[in-house]
Amino acid sequence: MHTETYRQLDREHHLHPFTDFKALGDEGSRIVIHAEGVYIHDSEGNRILDAMAGLWCVNLGYGREELVEAATAQLRELPYYNNFFKSTHPPAVKLAEMLCRLAPAHMNRVFFTGSGSEANDTVLRMVRRYWALEGKPDKQWVIARENAYHGSTVAGMSLGGMAPMHAQGGPTVPKIAHVRQPYWFGEGKFAEGRVGEGCDISPEAFGRECAAALEAKILELGEENVAAFIAEPVQGAGGAIIPPESYWPAVKEVLARYDILLVVDEVICGFGRLGEWFGSVHYDLKPDLMPIAKGLSSGYLPIGGVLVGDRVAETLIERGGEFFHGFTYSGHPVCAAVALKNLELMQAEGIVERVRDDVGPYLAERWATLADHSLVGEVRSLGLIGALELIDPDTGERFDKARFPKGFGVGTLCRDICFDHGLVMRSVGDTMIISPPLVITRAEIDELVRLAWEALDETARRLAAREQA
Ligand code: PMP
Repeated sequence: MHTETYRQLDREHHLHPFTDFKALGDEGSRIVIHAEGVYIHDSEGNRILDAMAGLWCVNLGYGREELVEAATAQLRELPYYNNFFKSTHPPAVKLAEMLCRLAPAHMNRVFFTGSGSEANDTVLRMVRRYWALEGKPDKQWVIARENAYHGSTVAGMSLGGMAPMHAQGGPTVPKIAHVRQPYWFGEGKFAEGRVGEGCDISPEAFGRECAAALEAKILELGEENVAAFIAEPVQGAGGAIIPPESYWPAVKEVLARYDILLVVDEVICGFGRLGEWFGSVHYDLKPDLMPIAKGLSSGYLPIGGVLVGDRVAETLIERGGEFFHGFTYSGHPVCAAVALKNLELMQAEGIVERVRDDVGPYLAERWATLADHSLVGEVRSLGLIGALELIDPDTGERFDKARFPKGFGVGTLCRDICFDHGLVMRSVGDTMIISPPLVITRAEIDELVRLAWEALDETARRLAAREQA
Protein backbone atom coordinates (compact mmCIF):
# COMPACT_ATOMS: atom_id res chain seq x y z
CA MET A 1 0.00 0.00 0.00
CA HIS A 2 1.16 3.52 -0.73
CA THR A 3 1.46 6.43 1.65
CA GLU A 4 -1.65 8.14 0.33
CA THR A 5 -3.75 4.98 0.66
CA TYR A 6 -2.64 4.52 4.25
CA ARG A 7 -3.39 8.16 4.95
CA GLN A 8 -6.84 7.92 3.46
CA LEU A 9 -7.76 4.72 5.34
CA ASP A 10 -6.31 6.18 8.53
CA ARG A 11 -8.41 9.33 8.08
CA GLU A 12 -11.55 7.28 7.41
CA HIS A 13 -11.29 4.69 10.17
CA HIS A 14 -8.68 5.39 12.82
CA LEU A 15 -9.27 7.62 15.86
CA HIS A 16 -5.84 8.46 17.30
CA PRO A 17 -5.03 8.98 21.01
CA PHE A 18 -4.70 12.60 22.24
CA THR A 19 -5.59 13.92 18.81
CA ASP A 20 -7.89 16.50 17.27
CA PHE A 21 -9.45 14.01 14.86
CA LYS A 22 -10.62 16.60 12.37
CA ALA A 23 -7.36 18.53 12.25
CA LEU A 24 -5.36 15.36 11.74
CA GLY A 25 -7.78 14.25 9.02
CA ASP A 26 -7.11 17.50 7.17
CA GLU A 27 -3.37 17.23 7.60
CA GLY A 28 -2.76 13.48 7.26
CA SER A 29 -0.69 11.12 9.40
CA ARG A 30 2.97 10.26 9.19
CA ILE A 31 3.26 6.54 8.52
CA VAL A 32 6.07 4.92 10.47
CA ILE A 33 7.04 1.61 8.93
CA HIS A 34 10.32 0.50 10.42
CA ALA A 35 12.84 1.27 13.15
CA GLU A 36 16.29 0.27 14.28
CA GLY A 37 18.53 1.49 17.08
CA VAL A 38 17.48 5.08 17.79
CA TYR A 39 15.98 5.75 14.35
CA ILE A 40 12.48 5.39 12.95
CA HIS A 41 11.75 5.28 9.22
CA ASP A 42 8.60 6.62 7.57
CA SER A 43 6.82 5.54 4.39
CA GLU A 44 8.32 8.46 2.46
CA GLY A 45 11.87 7.24 3.00
CA ASN A 46 12.83 9.57 5.85
CA ARG A 47 15.09 8.36 8.65
CA ILE A 48 14.30 10.22 11.87
CA LEU A 49 16.25 10.23 15.14
CA ASP A 50 13.67 9.28 17.77
CA ALA A 51 14.68 11.40 20.74
CA MET A 52 11.45 10.39 22.52
CA ALA A 53 12.10 6.60 22.52
CA GLY A 54 8.59 6.13 21.11
CA LEU A 55 6.55 7.38 24.06
CA TRP A 56 9.34 7.34 26.67
CA CYS A 57 9.48 3.57 26.45
CA VAL A 58 11.92 2.07 23.94
CA ASN A 59 14.75 2.11 26.44
CA LEU A 60 16.81 -0.62 24.75
CA GLY A 61 16.27 0.87 21.29
CA TYR A 62 14.55 -0.65 18.29
CA GLY A 63 15.30 -3.92 16.55
CA ARG A 64 16.60 -6.13 19.35
CA GLU A 65 16.48 -9.68 18.01
CA GLU A 66 16.75 -11.17 21.51
CA LEU A 67 13.37 -9.67 22.39
CA VAL A 68 11.85 -11.03 19.19
CA GLU A 69 13.20 -14.46 20.06
CA ALA A 70 11.91 -14.28 23.64
CA ALA A 71 8.44 -13.41 22.35
CA THR A 72 8.49 -16.10 19.67
CA ALA A 73 9.62 -18.84 22.03
CA GLN A 74 6.98 -17.90 24.59
CA LEU A 75 4.25 -17.66 21.95
CA ARG A 76 5.06 -21.26 20.96
CA GLU A 77 5.27 -22.56 24.54
CA LEU A 78 2.30 -20.80 26.16
CA PRO A 79 0.82 -17.80 24.33
CA TYR A 80 -1.69 -17.06 27.04
CA TYR A 81 -2.73 -18.15 30.43
CA ASN A 82 -4.07 -16.11 33.31
CA ASN A 83 -2.90 -15.70 36.88
CA PHE A 84 -6.41 -15.97 38.34
CA PHE A 85 -7.85 -19.05 40.07
CA LYS A 86 -4.67 -20.26 41.80
CA SER A 87 -2.64 -20.43 38.55
CA THR A 88 0.65 -18.91 37.52
CA HIS A 89 3.27 -19.50 34.82
CA PRO A 90 7.07 -19.32 34.61
CA PRO A 91 7.42 -15.92 32.85
CA ALA A 92 5.25 -14.12 35.45
CA VAL A 93 7.08 -15.75 38.35
CA LYS A 94 10.55 -15.09 36.95
CA LEU A 95 9.72 -11.48 36.09
CA ALA A 96 8.24 -10.85 39.55
CA GLU A 97 11.38 -12.21 41.18
CA MET A 98 13.71 -10.18 38.99
CA LEU A 99 11.75 -6.95 39.48
CA CYS A 100 11.83 -7.34 43.25
CA ARG A 101 15.57 -7.96 43.07
CA LEU A 102 16.08 -4.72 41.14
CA ALA A 103 13.68 -2.66 43.26
CA PRO A 104 14.60 -1.08 46.61
CA ALA A 105 15.09 -3.74 49.30
CA HIS A 106 11.76 -3.16 51.05
CA MET A 107 9.75 -3.85 47.87
CA ASN A 108 9.18 -7.57 47.49
CA ARG A 109 5.84 -7.95 45.71
CA VAL A 110 4.47 -6.96 42.33
CA PHE A 111 0.92 -6.84 40.92
CA PHE A 112 0.94 -6.97 37.11
CA THR A 113 -1.20 -4.86 34.79
CA GLY A 114 -1.34 -4.21 31.07
CA SER A 115 -0.31 -0.53 31.20
CA GLY A 116 0.71 2.42 33.34
CA SER A 117 -2.87 3.66 33.56
CA GLU A 118 -4.03 0.30 34.87
CA ALA A 119 -1.13 0.39 37.31
CA ASN A 120 -2.41 3.69 38.71
CA ASP A 121 -5.98 2.37 38.90
CA THR A 122 -4.50 -0.48 40.92
CA VAL A 123 -2.66 2.01 43.13
CA LEU A 124 -5.85 3.89 43.95
CA ARG A 125 -7.69 0.72 44.91
CA MET A 126 -4.71 -0.62 46.88
CA VAL A 127 -4.11 2.46 49.02
CA ARG A 128 -7.78 2.79 49.96
CA ARG A 129 -7.99 -0.93 50.67
CA TYR A 130 -4.83 -0.77 52.77
CA TRP A 131 -6.23 1.92 55.06
CA ALA A 132 -9.59 0.20 55.36
CA LEU A 133 -7.79 -2.96 56.48
CA GLU A 134 -5.78 -0.90 58.95
CA GLY A 135 -9.07 0.18 60.52
CA LYS A 136 -8.85 3.72 59.10
CA PRO A 137 -11.49 3.71 56.36
CA ASP A 138 -11.67 7.52 56.32
CA LYS A 139 -8.15 7.73 54.93
CA GLN A 140 -9.30 7.97 51.31
CA TRP A 141 -7.97 11.24 49.94
CA VAL A 142 -5.05 11.00 47.55
CA ILE A 143 -2.99 14.12 46.99
CA ALA A 144 -1.47 14.45 43.53
CA ARG A 145 -0.03 17.42 41.68
CA GLU A 146 -1.32 19.92 39.16
CA ASN A 147 -0.21 19.13 35.61
CA ALA A 148 0.72 15.56 36.60
CA TYR A 149 0.10 12.75 34.14
CA HIS A 150 -0.84 9.37 35.59
CA GLY A 151 -2.80 7.83 32.70
CA SER A 152 -5.97 8.00 30.68
CA THR A 153 -8.32 5.62 32.47
CA VAL A 154 -10.84 7.37 34.70
CA ALA A 155 -8.73 6.85 37.83
CA GLY A 156 -5.53 7.68 35.93
CA MET A 157 -6.86 10.98 34.63
CA SER A 158 -8.38 11.81 38.03
CA LEU A 159 -5.03 11.29 39.73
CA GLY A 160 -3.43 13.30 36.96
CA GLY A 161 -3.65 17.05 37.22
CA MET A 162 -4.29 17.95 33.61
CA ALA A 163 -7.14 20.46 33.57
CA PRO A 164 -8.14 19.81 29.93
CA MET A 165 -8.52 16.11 30.70
CA HIS A 166 -10.66 16.82 33.77
CA ALA A 167 -12.82 19.13 31.68
CA GLN A 168 -13.68 16.31 29.27
CA GLY A 169 -15.59 13.30 30.54
CA GLY A 170 -15.76 14.26 34.21
CA PRO A 171 -16.74 14.13 36.98
CA THR A 172 -13.45 12.72 38.14
CA VAL A 173 -13.03 10.12 40.89
CA PRO A 174 -13.91 11.73 44.25
CA LYS A 175 -11.40 12.49 47.01
CA ILE A 176 -8.40 13.33 44.88
CA ALA A 177 -6.76 16.71 45.51
CA HIS A 178 -3.96 18.47 43.65
CA VAL A 179 -1.14 20.67 44.88
CA ARG A 180 1.29 22.80 42.94
CA GLN A 181 4.05 21.24 40.88
CA PRO A 182 7.76 22.01 41.35
CA TYR A 183 8.00 23.70 37.95
CA TRP A 184 10.38 26.51 38.73
CA PHE A 185 10.76 27.95 35.21
CA GLY A 186 7.01 28.19 34.65
CA GLU A 187 5.78 29.03 38.12
CA GLY A 188 8.78 30.35 40.01
CA LYS A 189 10.83 32.34 37.54
CA PHE A 190 7.81 33.30 35.42
CA ALA A 191 4.71 32.81 37.51
CA GLU A 192 2.14 32.36 34.75
CA GLY A 193 -1.37 32.74 36.11
CA ARG A 194 -0.03 33.13 39.62
CA VAL A 195 0.73 36.81 39.77
CA GLY A 196 2.33 37.75 43.03
CA GLU A 197 2.65 34.16 44.11
CA GLY A 198 6.15 32.80 44.02
CA CYS A 199 7.25 35.01 41.10
CA ASP A 200 11.01 35.47 40.58
CA ILE A 201 11.95 33.26 43.47
CA SER A 202 15.08 31.11 43.66
CA PRO A 203 14.72 27.45 42.66
CA GLU A 204 15.65 26.29 46.14
CA ALA A 205 13.08 28.49 47.88
CA PHE A 206 10.51 27.53 45.28
CA GLY A 207 11.08 23.81 45.86
CA ARG A 208 10.49 24.33 49.58
CA GLU A 209 7.32 26.33 48.87
CA CYS A 210 5.92 23.46 46.83
CA ALA A 211 6.60 21.05 49.68
CA ALA A 212 4.91 23.49 52.07
CA ALA A 213 1.86 23.47 49.77
CA LEU A 214 1.70 19.70 50.22
CA GLU A 215 1.79 20.09 53.98
CA ALA A 216 -0.91 22.77 53.87
CA LYS A 217 -3.14 20.44 51.85
CA ILE A 218 -2.62 17.58 54.32
CA LEU A 219 -3.62 19.88 57.15
CA GLU A 220 -6.61 21.22 55.23
CA LEU A 221 -7.94 17.73 54.49
CA GLY A 222 -6.89 16.34 57.87
CA GLU A 223 -4.21 13.68 58.19
CA GLU A 224 -6.89 11.24 59.31
CA ASN A 225 -8.49 11.53 55.86
CA VAL A 226 -5.40 11.34 53.65
CA ALA A 227 -4.31 7.98 52.23
CA ALA A 228 -1.38 8.86 49.99
CA PHE A 229 0.67 11.35 48.03
CA ILE A 230 1.47 10.40 44.43
CA ALA A 231 4.15 11.97 42.25
CA GLU A 232 6.71 11.24 39.55
CA PRO A 233 10.36 11.72 40.54
CA VAL A 234 10.72 13.93 37.44
CA GLN A 235 7.46 14.86 35.72
CA GLY A 236 7.60 13.50 32.20
CA ALA A 237 4.53 14.38 30.17
CA GLY A 238 4.10 17.55 32.22
CA GLY A 239 7.23 18.88 30.51
CA ALA A 240 10.31 16.99 31.74
CA ILE A 241 10.12 18.96 34.96
CA ILE A 242 13.20 18.30 37.07
CA PRO A 243 12.38 19.60 40.54
CA PRO A 244 14.72 21.99 42.35
CA GLU A 245 17.25 20.12 44.52
CA SER A 246 15.39 21.26 47.64
CA TYR A 247 12.06 19.75 46.59
CA TRP A 248 12.29 16.04 47.38
CA PRO A 249 14.19 16.43 50.66
CA ALA A 250 11.55 18.94 51.79
CA VAL A 251 8.70 16.66 50.67
CA LYS A 252 10.31 13.77 52.54
CA GLU A 253 10.43 15.92 55.68
CA VAL A 254 6.72 16.71 55.31
CA LEU A 255 5.77 13.07 54.73
CA ALA A 256 7.80 11.97 57.76
CA ARG A 257 5.54 14.11 59.95
CA TYR A 258 2.34 12.36 58.84
CA ASP A 259 1.20 8.79 58.40
CA ILE A 260 0.58 8.89 54.67
CA LEU A 261 1.68 6.46 51.97
CA LEU A 262 4.08 7.61 49.27
CA VAL A 263 3.37 6.45 45.73
CA VAL A 264 6.13 7.17 43.24
CA ASP A 265 4.99 6.84 39.64
CA GLU A 266 7.97 5.23 37.90
CA VAL A 267 6.25 4.70 34.55
CA ILE A 268 8.76 7.03 32.85
CA CYS A 269 11.60 7.33 35.37
CA GLY A 270 11.85 3.59 36.03
CA PHE A 271 14.31 1.33 34.23
CA GLY A 272 17.29 3.59 33.87
CA ARG A 273 15.93 6.94 32.65
CA LEU A 274 17.55 8.91 35.50
CA GLY A 275 20.68 6.74 35.68
CA GLU A 276 19.36 4.39 38.37
CA TRP A 277 17.00 1.45 38.01
CA PHE A 278 14.31 3.65 39.56
CA GLY A 279 13.94 7.41 39.95
CA SER A 280 13.12 6.72 43.60
CA VAL A 281 16.68 5.51 44.06
CA HIS A 282 18.12 8.67 42.52
CA TYR A 283 16.15 10.80 45.00
CA ASP A 284 16.25 8.24 47.84
CA LEU A 285 12.47 8.19 48.23
CA LYS A 286 11.64 4.76 49.71
CA PRO A 287 8.10 4.63 48.30
CA ASP A 288 5.31 2.40 49.55
CA LEU A 289 4.09 1.74 46.01
CA MET A 290 5.68 2.18 42.58
CA PRO A 291 3.56 1.96 39.42
CA ILE A 292 5.71 0.83 36.47
CA ALA A 293 5.24 0.23 32.71
CA LYS A 294 6.89 1.48 29.49
CA GLY A 295 10.63 0.72 29.89
CA LEU A 296 9.75 -2.53 31.68
CA SER A 297 9.50 -4.18 28.26
CA SER A 298 11.20 -1.34 26.33
CA GLY A 299 7.72 -0.91 24.87
CA TYR A 300 8.01 -4.05 22.73
CA LEU A 301 4.84 -5.45 24.29
CA PRO A 302 2.36 -3.83 26.67
CA ILE A 303 2.96 -4.59 30.33
CA GLY A 304 2.85 -2.64 33.57
CA GLY A 305 2.53 -3.29 37.26
CA VAL A 306 2.71 -1.97 40.79
CA LEU A 307 5.68 -2.77 42.99
CA VAL A 308 4.41 -3.02 46.54
CA GLY A 309 6.47 -2.29 49.64
CA ASP A 310 6.44 -4.65 52.63
CA ARG A 311 4.27 -2.42 54.81
CA VAL A 312 1.34 -2.43 52.37
CA ALA A 313 1.91 -5.98 51.13
CA GLU A 314 1.85 -7.46 54.63
CA THR A 315 -1.50 -5.88 55.41
CA LEU A 316 -3.05 -6.85 52.08
CA ILE A 317 -1.81 -10.42 52.46
CA GLU A 318 -2.31 -11.04 56.18
CA ARG A 319 -5.59 -9.24 56.71
CA GLY A 320 -7.00 -8.74 53.27
CA GLY A 321 -8.85 -11.80 52.07
CA GLU A 322 -9.61 -11.63 48.37
CA PHE A 323 -8.59 -8.45 46.55
CA PHE A 324 -11.34 -8.02 43.96
CA HIS A 325 -9.16 -6.57 41.22
CA GLY A 326 -7.22 -7.85 38.20
CA PHE A 327 -6.93 -7.81 34.45
CA THR A 328 -7.17 -10.50 31.78
CA TYR A 329 -3.65 -9.56 30.78
CA SER A 330 -2.15 -9.22 34.29
CA GLY A 331 1.24 -10.87 33.89
CA HIS A 332 0.58 -11.93 30.28
CA PRO A 333 3.16 -14.67 29.59
CA VAL A 334 4.50 -13.27 26.31
CA CYS A 335 4.73 -9.73 27.63
CA ALA A 336 6.36 -11.02 30.82
CA ALA A 337 8.88 -13.10 28.86
CA VAL A 338 9.86 -10.07 26.78
CA ALA A 339 10.08 -7.84 29.86
CA LEU A 340 12.29 -10.41 31.59
CA LYS A 341 14.63 -10.63 28.60
CA ASN A 342 14.66 -6.83 28.37
CA LEU A 343 15.74 -6.48 32.01
CA GLU A 344 18.34 -9.24 31.59
CA LEU A 345 19.82 -7.45 28.58
CA MET A 346 19.83 -4.11 30.37
CA GLN A 347 21.66 -5.69 33.26
CA ALA A 348 24.14 -7.65 31.13
CA GLU A 349 24.96 -4.57 29.06
CA GLY A 350 25.24 -2.22 32.04
CA ILE A 351 22.71 0.15 30.44
CA VAL A 352 21.73 1.87 33.68
CA GLU A 353 25.33 2.54 34.75
CA ARG A 354 26.06 3.79 31.23
CA VAL A 355 23.29 6.39 31.57
CA ARG A 356 24.55 7.46 34.99
CA ASP A 357 28.28 7.58 34.22
CA ASP A 358 28.62 8.13 30.50
CA VAL A 359 25.80 9.17 28.17
CA GLY A 360 23.80 11.02 30.86
CA PRO A 361 26.65 13.40 31.73
CA TYR A 362 27.57 13.65 28.04
CA LEU A 363 24.02 14.62 27.10
CA ALA A 364 24.00 17.19 29.92
CA GLU A 365 27.16 18.79 28.55
CA ARG A 366 26.08 18.86 24.90
CA TRP A 367 22.42 19.75 25.63
CA ALA A 368 23.58 22.73 27.73
CA THR A 369 25.14 24.30 24.62
CA LEU A 370 21.62 24.96 23.32
CA ALA A 371 21.27 27.61 26.04
CA ASP A 372 23.22 29.90 23.68
CA HIS A 373 20.36 29.90 21.19
CA SER A 374 18.28 33.09 21.26
CA LEU A 375 15.02 31.10 21.48
CA VAL A 376 16.10 29.17 24.57
CA GLY A 377 15.41 30.44 28.08
CA GLU A 378 16.40 27.37 30.07
CA VAL A 379 18.08 24.05 29.41
CA ARG A 380 17.78 21.15 31.84
CA SER A 381 18.50 17.44 31.86
CA LEU A 382 18.99 14.55 34.24
CA GLY A 383 20.13 11.15 33.03
CA LEU A 384 18.47 10.82 29.63
CA ILE A 385 15.53 13.15 30.07
CA GLY A 386 15.79 16.77 29.05
CA ALA A 387 13.94 19.96 28.21
CA LEU A 388 14.38 23.31 26.50
CA GLU A 389 12.19 26.24 27.49
CA LEU A 390 11.45 28.43 24.48
CA ILE A 391 11.35 32.18 25.06
CA ASP A 392 10.60 35.21 22.96
CA PRO A 393 14.01 36.59 21.85
CA ASP A 394 12.51 40.11 21.69
CA THR A 395 11.46 40.18 25.34
CA GLY A 396 13.52 37.43 27.00
CA GLU A 397 10.24 36.20 28.48
CA ARG A 398 7.83 33.41 27.70
CA PHE A 399 5.84 33.86 24.51
CA ASP A 400 2.78 36.00 24.88
CA LYS A 401 -0.24 33.69 24.74
CA ALA A 402 -2.29 36.38 23.00
CA ARG A 403 0.16 36.58 20.11
CA PHE A 404 0.83 32.84 20.01
CA PRO A 405 -2.37 31.09 21.07
CA LYS A 406 -2.40 27.44 22.05
CA GLY A 407 -2.32 25.13 19.05
CA PHE A 408 -0.46 27.76 17.02
CA GLY A 409 2.20 27.91 19.64
CA VAL A 410 5.90 28.08 19.12
CA GLY A 411 6.40 24.65 20.68
CA THR A 412 4.13 23.01 18.14
CA LEU A 413 5.85 24.89 15.32
CA CYS A 414 9.28 23.79 16.56
CA ARG A 415 8.11 20.19 16.97
CA ASP A 416 6.85 20.04 13.39
CA ILE A 417 10.08 21.58 12.11
CA CYS A 418 12.07 19.00 14.10
CA PHE A 419 10.18 16.20 12.38
CA ASP A 420 10.96 17.71 8.99
CA HIS A 421 14.63 17.96 9.98
CA GLY A 422 14.84 14.30 10.99
CA LEU A 423 14.33 14.60 14.75
CA VAL A 424 11.49 13.55 17.03
CA MET A 425 11.37 16.08 19.84
CA ARG A 426 8.06 16.57 21.63
CA SER A 427 6.51 19.86 22.72
CA VAL A 428 4.51 20.53 25.87
CA GLY A 429 3.31 24.09 25.43
CA ASP A 430 6.52 25.98 24.70
CA THR A 431 8.71 23.39 26.36
CA MET A 432 10.63 21.04 24.04
CA ILE A 433 11.38 17.69 25.61
CA ILE A 434 13.54 14.65 24.91
CA SER A 435 13.81 11.17 26.35
CA PRO A 436 15.95 9.16 23.91
CA PRO A 437 16.58 5.40 23.98
CA LEU A 438 19.12 4.61 26.69
CA VAL A 439 21.36 2.95 24.10
CA ILE A 440 21.98 6.24 22.30
CA THR A 441 25.68 6.76 21.53
CA ARG A 442 27.77 9.89 22.00
CA ALA A 443 27.83 10.40 18.22
CA GLU A 444 24.04 10.14 18.10
CA ILE A 445 23.80 12.67 20.95
CA ASP A 446 25.95 15.04 18.87
CA GLU A 447 23.57 14.53 15.97
CA LEU A 448 20.54 15.10 18.22
CA VAL A 449 21.94 18.41 19.48
CA ARG A 450 22.92 19.53 15.96
CA LEU A 451 19.43 18.74 14.63
CA ALA A 452 17.83 20.53 17.60
CA TRP A 453 19.95 23.63 16.91
CA GLU A 454 18.97 23.59 13.21
CA ALA A 455 15.31 23.22 14.13
CA LEU A 456 15.55 26.15 16.56
CA ASP A 457 17.15 28.26 13.81
CA GLU A 458 14.37 27.40 11.41
CA THR A 459 11.76 28.09 14.11
CA ALA A 460 13.28 31.54 14.69
CA ARG A 461 13.24 32.23 10.92
CA ARG A 462 9.59 31.22 10.60
CA LEU A 463 8.62 33.33 13.62
CA ALA A 464 10.36 36.35 12.14
CA ALA A 465 8.57 35.77 8.82
CA ARG A 466 5.25 35.45 10.65
CA GLU A 467 5.87 38.70 12.49
CA GLN A 468 6.59 40.53 9.24
CA ALA A 469 3.58 39.08 7.41
N1 PMP B 1 2.14 7.41 34.48
C1 PMP B 1 3.03 8.16 33.85
C2 PMP B 1 4.02 8.94 34.63
C3 PMP B 1 3.05 8.21 32.44
O1 PMP B 1 3.93 8.97 31.81
C4 PMP B 1 2.11 7.43 31.74
C5 PMP B 1 2.10 7.41 30.21
N2 PMP B 1 2.70 8.42 29.54
C6 PMP B 1 1.18 6.69 32.45
C7 PMP B 1 1.23 6.67 33.83
C8 PMP B 1 0.13 5.90 31.75
O2 PMP B 1 0.69 4.81 31.12
P1 PMP B 1 -0.07 4.08 29.91
O3 PMP B 1 -0.09 5.04 28.77
O4 PMP B 1 0.78 2.85 29.68
O5 PMP B 1 -1.41 3.72 30.38
